[in-house]
Amino acid sequence: MTAGWIAVAGLGPGSAAQVTPEVTAALAEATDVVGYIPYVARVAPRAGLTLHASDNRVELDRARRALELAAEGARVVIVSSGDPGVFAMASALFEALEACPERQNIDIRILPGITAMLAAAARAGAPLGHDFCAINLSDNLKPFAEVERRLRHAARGGFAMAFYNPRSKSRPHQFGQALDILRQECEPERLILFARAVSTPEETLTCVPLAEASAEMADMRTVVIVGNAATRRVGRWVYTPRSVTE
Ligand code: SAH
Repeated sequence: MTAGWIAVAGLGPGSAAQVTPEVTAALAEATDVVGYIPYVARVAPRAGLTLHASDNRVELDRARRALELAAEGARVVIVSSGDPGVFAMASALFEALEACPERQNIDIRILPGITAMLAAAARAGAPLGHDFCAINLSDNLKPFAEVERRLRHAARGGFAMAFYNPRSKSRPHQFGQALDILRQECEPERLILFARAVSTPEETLTCVPLAEASAEMADMRTVVIVGNAATRRVGRWVYTPRSVTE
């Protein structure tokens, strides 16, 4: 039996041009691809490759399945969108591994990808050009009170911010609450970028001052970037200067 392996690969934000050659090479060698349905759909089927698409919210089952397959000799690619280490499958795999000491000698590689906030920032200009943080607004894996606390501290700390999973059908009101916190902590002119489906044919980018932002501007295909107090427009671009003055 040949030795199996697992590669946890980031497919980037959507466009084939933003998939790294390293990820393409791992997919070419794989016997099995494991992942959330829309991400597995981005992998071209071919003879000798089994696609295991599963629903959302079953990350740990998926990670355990990948460990089983690799232990049986399969070459497994676990696919994530963007980067696999950003609110994605790499941590889920290590969580499963922690609970499974007999699998800890499996060959595992994490293959980075272009995460949504960086793809979105590049389309808009350079809104993350100074200190910033990334916050997952979903309360699937943490209480919403913790989301609110972190958001408030990040705003008070002067960070630009990127919000992942800003708004879904199952929690339509929380992004509005997040905007309320921003309105308490930031000036009304603060620039907010709504970047939807970046690098796909459906891509849209909208940049408005906080005073004009509304919850309906975001959905689950949107990453929201909030500038810092110095973030500004130059022509059609949005950028954050590299220096901060007292
Ligand atoms: N691992 C992924 C993030 C997974 S969480 C990454 O690194 O990008 C899913 C969230 O990512 C979505 O709700 C959205 O906020 C963001 N996202 C993923 N792809 C996107 C895209 N092409 N355009 C805008 N936002 C995207």
